[in-house]
Amino acid sequence: MYDKPAHFIDENKVWEILGAHKTSDYVKTREVLAKALDMKGLSQEDMAILINISDPLMLSELFDTANKVKETIYGKRLVLFAPLYISNMCSNECLYCAFRATNKEIVRNALSQEHIAREVEVLINQGHKRILMVAGESYPNQGFQYILDSIATIYRVKNRHGEIRRVNVNIAPLDTDEFRLLKGAGIGTYQIFQETYHRETYSKVHLGGKKRDYNWRVWSLHRAMEAGIDDVGIGVLFGLFDYRFEILALMQHIHELEDKFGVGPHTISVPRLEPATNSNLASHPPFPVSDIDFRKIVAILRLAVPYTGIIMSTRETAQMRRETFALGVSQISAGSRTNPGGYEDESEDDPSGQFSLGDHRPLDEVIRDVASMGYIPSFCTACYRLGRTGQDFMDLAKPGDIKLHCGPNALSSFKEYLKNYAKPATVKIGEELIRKTVAEMSGIARQRAEKLIKRVEEGRDDVYC
Ligand code: SF4
Ligand code: SF4
Repeated sequence: MYDKPAHFIDENKVWEILGAHKTSDYVKTREVLAKALDMKGLSQEDMAILINISDPLMLSELFDTANKVKETIYGKRLVLFAPLYISNMCSNECLYCAFRATNKEIVRNALSQEHIAREVEVLINQGHKRILMVAGESYPNQGFQYILDSIATIYRVKNRHGEIRRVNVNIAPLDTDEFRLLKGAGIGTYQIFQETYHRETYSKVHLGGKKRDYNWRVWSLHRAMEAGIDDVGIGVLFGLFDYRFEILALMQHIHELEDKFGVGPHTISVPRLEPATNSNLASHPPFPVSDIDFRKIVAILRLAVPYTGIIMSTRETAQMRRETFALGVSQISAGSRTNPGGYEDESEDDPSGQFSLGDHRPLDEVIRDVASMGYIPSFCTACYRLGRTGQDFMDLAKPGDIKLHCGPNALSSFKEYLKNYAKPATVKIGEELIRKTVAEMSGIARQRAEKLIKRVEEGRDDVYC
């Protein structure tokens, strides 16, 4: 069944909706923004109305509404993670990627398990608790077992500074049996981006390898969910095609997963095309997304699927990240390297990376910056470890009860970071922020926060609710 055309991505319908809402209309726009405050999500038609906003006044109303929804659901916390590239070997030919098979200008490397362990040590010593493991689509010698072994290696590394508590993965689509094995390896989120939902563009930019098959990729989350992986991440590579088309098609994919499995994706990623070694396409995106449109995309997605986390990577500059947090971002990467081995070998901007980074700052500097803006950096991994995933997670998230966990856990994990890893300047800002945040809390959330923080102060790590 999963090699059939994916009926749920209906391109004609996307164009029809966009065509029917070509002009900006203040009354309709305000109706949609008012509806968004109910936090029940938006239809594709609603999104098309918001896409047309260009007037600065309406734009600021859109951003204010997105900020209200973000603060209501997620509060001031920002979850942090690091990508871990274990291999840049790939049999595909994605024109925008430095890892594509025919690119001779990068050094190829699939890390050994010993090397992966050393990379993980570096990340643990920095204070990271969540890793997104990434690999190109070619696992020479060991096949898929390489992926399973690498996940086991990451979880196995423990030192006096701690351990990685959650491994999310971004790897090529698998068949259902392989997804079962992946689930058995104890992953958090399985993440895959369609890159572009526009079929013609998809075939123009994916010239070789298994990734040429649009349908195999777009059905992959069905196979993952059928295999029991109920925590999945989705995304678009913005810049390949018209962003207005992409976000409506993305919604069609989300609605299909919700209809079929009762729960949609846990996260949406919003990467923009960035230069990559020897890629003309990456340096000259066919549909460049301006900074203001990028912020619009984040704000519209925040309103369309309020309970789905939005992930922003270090592709974006520090300034762009600062300007976008308030619109709905709930997770960010920090201190990232996109070349395998890049954490142990610290040479900046290795050309063997997948793409160029916009934010080069180390984790502690990002944390200090985020905290000075009033956001609580969170290393929480509680839900995954307590089995609160998929439907169980949404049952807590939709009535808003998850906040009673996220807030206290963010504070205790931040406190743990300050105690074990932070530089003095970060400790100063962080402790003050924790004190102020707890003072503003009330009820169960405050009780839980105080209890967890006290345990960290008494010497315990890894406390959560
Ligand atoms: Fe390979 Fe992924 Fe790069 Fe495509 S985007 S060439 S599949 S690593
Ligand atoms: Fe994420 Fe759950 Fe922790 Fe909240 S409590 S930050 S949803 S893992």
